[in-house]
Amino acid sequence: MKHKELLVGTALGVLGFLVTLRVNVWPVLLVCGLGYFLYTSGGQIKGIGKSKVGTVVGEASTIRFEDIGGQNVAKRELIEALKFLRDYERASRLGIRPLKGVLLSGPPGTGKTLLAKAAANYTDSVFISASGSEFIEVYAGLGAQRIRDLFSRARSLAKDSKKSGAVIFIDEIEVLAGKRGSQVGHLEYDQTLNQLLVEMDGLRFDTGVKILVVAATNRPDLLDSAIMRPGRFDRTVTVDLPDKEGRLEILRIHLRDKPVAGEVSLENLAKETFGLSGAHLESLCNEAAINTLRRGGATISSGDLTEALNKVILGEKLERRPSDGEMQRICAHEAGHAVVAETIRPGSVAHITVSPRGNALGFVRHSPAEDRYLYPKEVLEEEIQILLAGAAAEDLMFGSKSTGAANDFRRALDIAKRLVMYGMSPIGVVDRETASLDLIARATNDIIKSAEISAARILNRYRAALVKLSEQLFEKETVSAAELRNYLDVPGKVSWKWRKPPARKSRIRRGV
Ligand code: ATP
Repeated sequence: MKHKELLVGTALGVLGFLVTLRVNVWPVLLVCGLGYFLYTSGGQIKGIGKSKVGTVVGEASTIRFEDIGGQNVAKRELIEALKFLRDYERASRLGIRPLKGVLLSGPPGTGKTLLAKAAANYTDSVFISASGSEFIEVYAGLGAQRIRDLFSRARSLAKDSKKSGAVIFIDEIEVLAGKRGSQVGHLEYDQTLNQLLVEMDGLRFDTGVKILVVAATNRPDLLDSAIMRPGRFDRTVTVDLPDKEGRLEILRIHLRDKPVAGEVSLENLAKETFGLSGAHLESLCNEAAINTLRRGGATISSGDLTEALNKVILGEKLERRPSDGEMQRICAHEAGHAVVAETIRPGSVAHITVSPRGNALGFVRHSPAEDRYLYPKEVLEEEIQILLAGAAAEDLMFGSKSTGAANDFRRALDIAKRLVMYGMSPIGVVDRETASLDLIARATNDIIKSAEISAARILNRYRAALVKLSEQLFEKETVSAAELRNYLDVPGKVSWKWRKPPARKSRIRRGV
């Protein structure tokens, strides 16, 4: 600071002297102004001067491993790696080389940032984070400088906070550590990655601030092999979508400070949320509390949670209501899905509704009996039947299908193709490269046809339930799974008020 003031004082003095000598000082002022502008723009303009990683956050983390639901394997692996850092003296007596980097790999919203923060808390280190994309610039050398900056800031932050360690968290590491030579303008990318490797190679644990680099990625396949070399990121921890137990723990964590009604079964909710990440579950709990506030309730009811779940999966409810004719079709369509699903897999339907949300005009939410990671042939065939049941119900009740089934058809075809390609069709194992397209198309078609016939057969058998459910949906918009089960249990006479299918032949004769 003193130097700066001295410099400014001297410069003003010289300028004043030149003015008294009647020298034109404007060119000098112009050059000085330009230099100052480039200096203060922090290298953003020309890649020179000082540089900063945009959103680097330095903080003392308060997240504990107990605040992270599920992810038991990831937590165990990470804690083991951190123990060497926490108990450095003991580890060094055994000659253990502490880990310099841990790579967390998994889908978005599964808790990778949380794990890195918990790691900082566990080792009593400061937490500093940045995203891979912040290091990539078109200006040569700037990315590398930002890496240097990040490590030196981590050190100074730890010293300022009187901590012995720092956890540097780099999100989206694949952006800066992609395979070298594979990027457009790759020299800048390569320099940035090289600088990261140099910094990691230079990390020491016997003196100064102990630094652990935690990186996260959704695409480990894109990473340069140099980064995975022992001595760099030598531990990869998979952070997957939570299983049923994990979802239950996450729900408990995010509902612990919210008043929840006694009737709510978190076990059921955990069962119904297969495929959702921790971030989805957090949002679900928040939305449920908002629903409670909206209706002026005192505690979060199961209705609030169901509404929130529908919103998280499909989006906000839409205001528009289709015409009565369209609505009847939508009701029949959704009833078709629900009847076939519940008949094939009793107890699997959780909720049926025809209120439009996001891109869906209606939907049936399924609640699988257990999480599934392997799909046998029968399960995939059932899935196709359930998908085709919507169109089959429309056909049965209105004599034609509609565009509402387009997405169902696309998904059904996708599964049928997988059945063929995985060797589960009557044509056996197929070689993708030599099998004729015609053969694959015929095998796929056969699967679809047979599923269509099965779905139609079920709907014919449970026609009374299909009609009752469609009518109830038309009246109430939402029907519970328990009501559906009642309709399926009571065989009744079929008598529906809606338009019967017109005779197809007469339509053809009229040329419609
Ligand atoms: P991304 O890959 O998109 O950066 P991420 O894996 O880093 O995502 P986080 O940022 O850690 O995900 O999680 C986002 C939010 O989701 C957290 O703030 C937390 O509220 C919630 N969350 C995610 N996973 C869990 C979990 N296992 N336990 C509790 N909350 C979780």
